[in-house]
Amino acid sequence: MTDIGAIDGSSPPRTIAVIGGGQAAGWIVKTLRKEGFDGRLVMVADEVHAPYERPPLSKAVLSGEAAVDTVSLVKPDDFAALNVECWQPDCATEIDRQRRLLRTARGRELEYDRLIIATGGAARRLEGAQAATKNLAYLRTLDDAVSLGSRMREIRHLLVIGGGWIGLEVAATARKLGVEVTVIEGASRLCARTVPPIVSEFLADLHRAQGVDLRIGVGLAALDDHPGDPRRVQATLADGTSIDADFAVAGIGLTPHTALAEAAGLAVQNGIVVDEFGVTDDPAIFACGDVANHMNAWLGRRVRLESWANAQNQAIATAKASIGIAAPYAEIPWFWSDQYDVNLQILGDVPMDSKPVIRGDLGARRASLFFLKDGAVRGVVAINAPRDLKLARKWMNQGREVDRERLMDTTVPLS
Ligand code: NAP
Repeated sequence: MTDIGAIDGSSPPRTIAVIGGGQAAGWIVKTLRKEGFDGRLVMVADEVHAPYERPPLSKAVLSGEAAVDTVSLVKPDDFAALNVECWQPDCATEIDRQRRLLRTARGRELEYDRLIIATGGAARRLEGAQAATKNLAYLRTLDDAVSLGSRMREIRHLLVIGGGWIGLEVAATARKLGVEVTVIEGASRLCARTVPPIVSEFLADLHRAQGVDLRIGVGLAALDDHPGDPRRVQATLADGTSIDADFAVAGIGLTPHTALAEAAGLAVQNGIVVDEFGVTDDPAIFACGDVANHMNAWLGRRVRLESWANAQNQAIATAKASIGIAAPYAEIPWFWSDQYDVNLQILGDVPMDSKPVIRGDLGARRASLFFLKDGAVRGVVAINAPRDLKLARKWMNQGREVDRERLMDTTVPLS
């Protein structure tokens, strides 16, 4: 990877192009202006909206409690003041690295000094017989959330395909609206890629207690219009059982938008490969957010993170690096989810196969799970325990050793 100080060794950039219009792109343009970049700033995005935050999309926007304008990352007047040329909706189609030229679907061309790719990803789609109905939606964008939310308020039974974060948050919102919910998860447990079995079991208990019908460990074979009513759906599972519902939503993962980078010959391996400054293998091109596979200095390894905190903080570090303010991105990965009355937060490295030290009572839905390595905390899952997580973050940044017995003893304050 290139030393940031040697990006091109010449004059500071006058034109910066940003591809993408999501949370990462929003933080890039905000940061560049905050740090004094006064050159031409162009944001190319197929989104019609100005950058917005996604966490409310599966919760308050979906339930209809929050108006769409509450999710904007920057208030309209403040965004206008950033003086960003927004090429929206448009889509970057080609990066000519030799000429430092970006081409778009609408036939526009832009010569850049620096290019920052923050293209995020798309909701993975079901294919073939698994998607033989129009009564099926995905949730990724603000428009998706508004349209799914209005549909959810009209129906009695929702089928959720995928027991990951989208699926579980949508299920919780649907239950809040009084909608019956069935969740199908092909893997043997919920959120299997991101949390260890003890947390999957906690989530399963939580949803069952709220009346969700969970079908775990059995894949979807086919999803069709209901034979008796084409406005409804019928799912056939791999074990031959069938489920009737009014509508279906699939949350089966995210596919990062890497095609443009790949076509330009940039290194791509589970995301666009960047260093701790967001630099790709072309020193004039950067990437950050869901689409970037970055070297994380705290983890000591490469990772591609799909989280709100990463979209914001990696974007800030990358924007700064693009104008020569180099501070390596070394944040401890952090993620949270709100479902019913549970706030669940995950910090750091949470291994799938190690036994955590448990503080509190999972049954009472207030507990912290500490994952230790060599006497220090490397990861935490905090369930309705944000203060524990805050303290643990401090210890983790310091690499401080902890006492297992004291961690477990709720009569001893953690502080
Ligand atoms: P996800 O968390 O990766 O979960 C997708 C789940 O669907 C996985 O368990 C996957 O199992 C399962 N699946 C895949 N194909 C399936 C099929 N045909 N039938 C049944 N289950 C299937 O992805 P997501 O829930 O779609 O969310 C997308 C991204 O948004 C994720 O990165 C997520 O972290 C993020 N997100 C974040 C928040 C938050 O920050 N609170 C909220 C919502 C979403 P396999 O692993 O076996 O494929």
